[in-house]
Amino acid sequence: SSFESLGLSEPIWRAAAERGYTSPTPIQEQAIPVVMSGVDLLAGAQTGTGKTAAFAMPILHKLAVTAGSASRAPSSVRALILVPTRELAAQVEASVQLYGRYLPLRSLVLIGGVKINPQMQKLRRSVDILVATPGRLLDHIQQRSVDLSHVEILVLDEADRMLDMGFIRDIRRILAVLPKKRQNLLFSATFSPEIRGLADGLLNNPTSVEV
Ligand code: AMP
Repeated sequence: SSFESLGLSEPIWRAAAERGYTSPTPIQEQAIPVVMSGVDLLAGAQTGTGKTAAFAMPILHKLAVTAGSASRAPSSVRALILVPTRELAAQVEASVQLYGRYLPLRSLVLIGGVKINPQMQKLRRSVDILVATPGRLLDHIQQRSVDLSHVEILVLDEADRMLDMGFIRDIRRILAVLPKKRQNLLFSATFSPEIRGLADGLLNNPTSVEV
């Protein structure tokens, strides 16, 4: 199959093709139609399977379709991608940039270990796709420098690692400020009872895919 046959728009599959990617990996083939349809997703996938594009591409597609339909509040975010580490945040942001290079969407990454003030400056404008580690995002929530009340899509990437790293309390605090009505995507390489519990509380009637 092709990215086009999965329903992704031309700017996205053109960017992928220029990178040398013309056919979807198994996780992409399974997950992209689910994300496009708007339902919640529970995905079992290891790193290296192409899982990042499996959520980045359809999110870009969906946000581009409705771009500019409403006036955007400053500091507001439309898609929030939570990741466990700074390194993964940089990788995910690079993928969002790559597949979104022909779309008029703005992405931003918020990680700890760097100064918070430049991040606050960048948050004065609205953000389509925010990639963040939980601790620093919580700092911004507490400082009121980010507005998560309009989030349409939430991704928990490498959810098992986030739990292993002790982020469950931070994640719960972040979930508490999101709107109730939104699409949720959870990616994890492993499924412990703890992950199942998180997924049960977070996901609404999810479709499960596994590679
Ligand atoms: P990930 O599992 O998201 O970390 O991706 C693993 C690697 O696969 C990354 O280097 C991607 O750039 C690459 N990749 C993603 N999608 C495809 C694809 N459809 N065809 C070939 N390589 C891909």
